Amino acid sequence: MKTTDVLILGAGAAGMMCAATAAYAGQRVMVIDHARQAGRKILMSGGGRCNFTHLDAQPQHYLSSNPGFCISALKRYPPQAFLELVERHGIDWVEKTPGQLFCTHSSKDIQQLLLTEMDWAGASLHLSTRFDSMHIKADSIQVDTSLGRIEAGALVVATGGLSIPTLGATGLGYTLAEQLDVPVLPRSPALVPFTLSAEDKAQWSELSGLSCGVAVTCRGQTFCEPLLITHRGLSGPAMLQISSFWRPGDSLSINWLPGQDVAQRIQQFRQQQPRSGLVTLLSQQLPKRLAQRLADPLVQTLGLNPQAAQWSQAQMTRLHQSLSDWPIRPAGTEGYRTAEVTLGGVDTQAISSQDFSLRHCPQVRFIGEVLDVTGQLGGFNFQWAWASAVACGRGV
Ligand SMILES: Cc1cc2nc3c(=O)[nH]c(=O)nc-3n(C[C@H](O)[C@H](O)[C@H](O)COP(=O)(O)OP(=O)(O)OC[C@H]3O[C@@H](n4cnc5c(N)ncnc54)[C@H](O)[C@@H]3O)c2cc1C
Repeated sequence: MKTTDVLILGAGAAGMMCAATAAYAGQRVMVIDHARQAGRKILMSGGGRCNFTHLDAQPQHYLSSNPGFCISALKRYPPQAFLELVERHGIDWVEKTPGQLFCTHSSKDIQQLLLTEMDWAGASLHLSTRFDSMHIKADSIQVDTSLGRIEAGALVVATGGLSIPTLGATGLGYTLAEQLDVPVLPRSPALVPFTLSAEDKAQWSELSGLSCGVAVTCRGQTFCEPLLITHRGLSGPAMLQISSFWRPGDSLSINWLPGQDVAQRIQQFRQQQPRSGLVTLLSQQLPKRLAQRLADPLVQTLGLNPQAAQWSQAQMTRLHQSLSDWPIRPAGTEGYRTAEVTLGGVDTQAISSQDFSLRHCPQVRFIGEVLDVTGQLGGFNFQWAWASAVACGRGV
């Protein structure tokens, strides 16, 4: 039987960061993962360039049924701390949109950083290793694996969420939580593209590949970001962000001309280009084919004259309303196959926000995405992985 101080289940972002932290603190650390490669999601992340943090990561960027839970860990390991680590490893980075930091070259740099840190700290990594079962003892935990039985002082569950099973995601962390009588809150795919009904898809998919800035609203949340029309439905940062708030059956409200006074814009257009029509107005802000697609039904339903000079005040009011509150009802989402994260998960009420141990069984800890803490798009999810891992690794 092998023995170790800390056994970490999952060699993803959180598991590797926790392993290095605990090993630097003097613990004997083993990490096991069923995948053949560590940190596969890191490699896929940020379009291959890993959006490894957001400089403004604050608790309000996270969804959780226990919103205060993330405060302490985020405060104790802020984005600047991870950035310093990135710089110590000589990794070039770039701030693409304000606050969002990406690798200049490749996500591999972050995977390699974590592997190097684990190596320097003396943590051992065991890939292609199956977890079979766990037995809690009075002051230790015995875990049966394809490596044989491992006896550990503490078990850290860092198995992530359900998104992208082909990258190694399984529900093991939730199963273990349930075995330990820890509630697992309902889960759903988040940061995920929407699918459309057959009828909507027929209309929108011919615009596949077009992108434009919109403001999208659902359940009182609004995001001003780009929308991308795909051959399957709607994607792009605006749709990924709002998908974390959307529930089946909800409609999305799209403002096609965000960040401006649409009513005033229509009035101005009528004065300045009285002989032009709606397609011309919309083409000034939107791709021409999209402008046409939006204009056709509006011209019909509002009975708009081809010349703006003829538009009545009532028509302009309705035009303004339609352009700033355009309803689309998604048929669903692409699900865990393409979702970046899992909303919901292990109930944090059962867990210490200081060291991430289970209150009623402190030998077991949960960190990272397996917990009911889900970040918005933009580097917030990795920042949660780093912060929860460091808080756990320092205290284990
Ligand atoms: C395509 C994509 C792009 C993303 N881009 C970004 C981004 O740019 N910025 C950002 O902040 N976030 C991004 N995310 C989210 C981010 O990757 C996750 O939030 C983060 O990886 C969670 O870290 P984790 O360690 O908790 O889980 P993971 O990184 O998912 O690690 C879990 C590990 O546990 C292992 N495991 C699972 N089940 C078992 C089992 N039964 N037995 C043994 N091992 C098991 C897995 O193989 C895996 O190695 C992206 C996600 C995806 C899918």
